[in-house]
Amino acid sequence: MKTIICRHCDMVSNVPAMPVNYVAKCPCCKRKLYKNIKCQPSTLLALSISALLIMIPAFYFPLISVHLLGITENTNLLQGALMMLDNAPVVAFAVLFCAVIAPSLLITSIAFTSACLTFNYYPGIIPKILHLTHALRHWSMLEVYMISLMVAVFKLISYADLYFGYGFFFLIALLLLDMTIISNYSHHNYWERYINGK
Ligand SMILES: [Zn+2]
Repeated sequence: MKTIICRHCDMVSNVPAMPVNYVAKCPCCKRKLYKNIKCQPSTLLALSISALLIMIPAFYFPLISVHLLGITENTNLLQGALMMLDNAPVVAFAVLFCAVIAPSLLITSIAFTSACLTFNYYPGIIPKILHLTHALRHWSMLEVYMISLMVAVFKLISYADLYFGYGFFFLIALLLLDMTIISNYSHHNYWERYINGK
């Protein structure tokens, strides 16, 4: 019988035989140990590559065009964050980190480990990448950015004419892919595959 250590209270317990999509909880602190997800690394590799390709138009194409007093202004995600650098550098950095840097690094690291596990290649850097993936999962907040964008749209719509650009639709596609990847990624499963495979 395999054992697992709880990250929260260091309790050592046996790994139970669980059906797919069930969550194992620590018998001591009752917090989540892991979820039994059986998504193949090859599936996550394909989804991650698609997400990385969609990131380019989602970040660079105009999100919204604002038409006010005869003037039309286009802006994309990167421009929006950089415009705040002078007045609110902390907010600008938070938006850049949580909406651009963290999701990009997270998807890249999942793509890398998925590719290694798919092709049975186990370089020594995989443990570091797995630790990085786990840390970045808490900082990737693309959905929070999308909600704040929609709030801004509803507030602005009474003052100016708003038009959604191509970037907005790519951002929605990226958000859906991002959520699918994160919900199907199992940290426990990847560690297990790495340890059994190397
Ligand atoms: Zn515990």
